[in-house]
Formats: sequence, structure tokens, C-alpha cells
Amino acid sequence: MRITKIDTTAVRTPMREPLVWPGGTRHSASGLLVQIQTDEGIVGLGEAPGPTLPTIQTIIEQELTQFLIGQDPFRVEWLVHRMEEFSRNWSRIANYAIAGIEIALLDLKGKALGVPVAELLGGFSRDRVPVVGYLFIDTPEANADKAGAFVDAGYTELKLKVGRDFEQDHDAIAAIRDRVGNDVKIRIDANMIWSVPAAIKWIKGLEQFDLQYVEQPVPDFDIAGLAQVRRCVSTPIAADEGCTDVRSALELLKADACDVLVVYPSEAGGLRKAHQIGALADAAGKWCVIGSWAELGVATMGNVHVVAASSNYPFASDTHYPLQESDVLAEPLEMSDGLVEVPHAPGLGIELDPEAVDRLARYEVRESVFYDDIQGEAPRVGQIL
Ligand SMILES: [Mg+2]
Repeated sequence: MRITKIDTTAVRTPMREPLVWPGGTRHSASGLLVQIQTDEGIVGLGEAPGPTLPTIQTIIEQELTQFLIGQDPFRVEWLVHRMEEFSRNWSRIANYAIAGIEIALLDLKGKALGVPVAELLGGFSRDRVPVVGYLFIDTPEANADKAGAFVDAGYTELKLKVGRDFEQDHDAIAAIRDRVGNDVKIRIDANMIWSVPAAIKWIKGLEQFDLQYVEQPVPDFDIAGLAQVRRCVSTPIAADEGCTDVRSALELLKADACDVLVVYPSEAGGLRKAHQIGALADAAGKWCVIGSWAELGVATMGNVHVVAASSNYPFASDTHYPLQESDVLAEPLEMSDGLVEVPHAPGLGIELDPEAVDRLARYEVRESVFYDDIQGEAPRVGQIL
């Protein structure tokens, strides 16, 4: 079998409501669909999420396609390794493009062999994957209501964005804990907004709420600072923005800087890389969890297969999926009980809805996830004690 053509389509869906986090306000989710055609008629489906889709699209179309055409799509490890060699000194952005290709190669291979992607990654460790109920910066009352709705719907783990105002964060966590009781896990994410002393002070002030973990309290580059925070608090600490690929995961583990690695298969360069980070963390006695870029259905299902095939992703996966207005799949993913059934059909086990793809490809509102709608100096207040 040989690769004959690669098609990319940028798609975007509105969120059901604006989502406020320390870096801005998010109004939509975007993804780049990747379809790999072959001379035997089998098509592999992938998705590269991320806020820089035109760049990722250009990398696939202008840099990677010329290498991939004519190649045997079954040689996934070798193809990924060669693409990594091409992009050695611009790997951070290239990894998104490589991941979109790698997911499509695995879907294609699974379809050709008649096995699910999870089977290609090591086999099923579980048939259902838990997902988190995702809460953003809002009033304590509103977040308590949303948390209660998630728990009523069957979710057992919640995640809350924090970092703009400590008093509001404290009151929101208190209200959520009061509403959902002590059995529900609550994790918080400060998205790098705190300094080391601020992080230590704020996290100590939240220890009464028995948080599952605190995600990336300090900037991504400050591994020593993250390790210092971890040593000074009893709440487990997760590295997110600092954990971008296998190498950065290794550096975090060597520094004993965190308890949990937040892994984005799209950022790490593919589903197999995410699986490898799981093994690396396991060797260090740490755990992994899937992070969310607000993927659409294709990449979300790729993440589901990683967790299904891994023994070291014990936490509910992050996902914005229930908060997104629409999707590209013929049958949108079901998450109503806080669990996703892992398909046993060949490949990813999903099909596109061509009409939905066409509609979402024409949704042209552009935004930066990271800088829109910031009001005054609010995002920096967490830095000040
Ligand atoms: Mg995070």
C-alpha cells in the first residue's frame, strides 16, 4: 500500500458559552482535519488541533506531504522519526502537524488490519474512558450549579480554571465542594499565572478542600520553581505547559518537579508519543492525564484510544467536547455519564459527516485563544502576594 494524497481541512465550532481562563476568553474550538489517501482506497483520518492552524496546515502541505507521497503508511515509527528529523530545530510547532499525520496513519493501519487503534497501541486496558467536567472562571454560585449538573450527569472528576482572583477562586472551590460533597475529585489549573511564593501561599490556603492536584501553578520554563512549590505543599502538583513532549517529560521527572504529567498527544507528536510518556512516568512512579486543546471529535477519539491502551492514565481526561456547539462526526461522541465508550471498530472507529465538515470549514470567526478579551491587569494579580 502507498500514500497517494493528503487532504487538510480547517474547521471551527463555537463554544456553547464563552469560557474564561487566566489567559483570555475562549469562544470557539478549532482543528485541522487530515485525510491520508492510499492506492488501495483506504483513507486514514486524523486531526491536528491548536491555535495556529494556518501554520500547521502549511507544514503538512508544503513540508511533509512531499515526503509522505509514495511511502508505505504501515511504517508509522519510521515515518514519524523521519518527519522529526526534518523538523528538528522547529519541533514544537512541527509536532502538531506530525501528530495529525500520525493519528491518520494509525486510523488507516487499523482499518487495513481490521483492528481498533487501541489494539495498535498495546491493546485494551479498559473499554470506557472517564472524562472530566470542565469548569471555567465564573461566580462561585454559577460554578457550583455547573458542578452539580456535571455530577448529576454522572461525572466523578471536575476541573476548575483559577488564577485571576484568589478570593473568587477560594470561594468557587468552597461552593463546588459544598455542592458535590467529598467523594468527587476536584483539580484546579492556574495556567502558569502564579509566582513561586504566590503559588505556595495560595495552594496552602486551599488544602482544606482536598484537591486532586494543582496544574502548572508557575511558568513552564521554571522546573526548579515547580519542584520548590511541590516540596512546600501537600497537594499533588501537575506539569502541563512544561510537559510538551517525551524530552520535556523526562526533564520534569529528573527534577522530581511534579506528581502528574498533563499530556497532549497533539503537542507530543502523536498517540504513540503520549503512550510512551505514560511508560516514562510509570518508571518514575508518576502518573499521566490527557490535557485538552478543545479538540474536535477525531482528535478526542484519538486521545480516548491512548487512555484505553495505557496503564498509567488513571485520571479522567480533560475535554472541552461537551462545551462545544457542534462536531464533524457522523455520530457525535457520547459523554453524558462522564464516560466515553471506546469503539472496537477498525481504526479510530469514527466517520465524518461531510455536511458538518463543510459547515464548520466555513465558520470563519478568527480569534486568539490566548489574548482576546483580557480586561485590565486582572491576569497578573496572581503574581502579587
Ligand atoms: Mg492546564
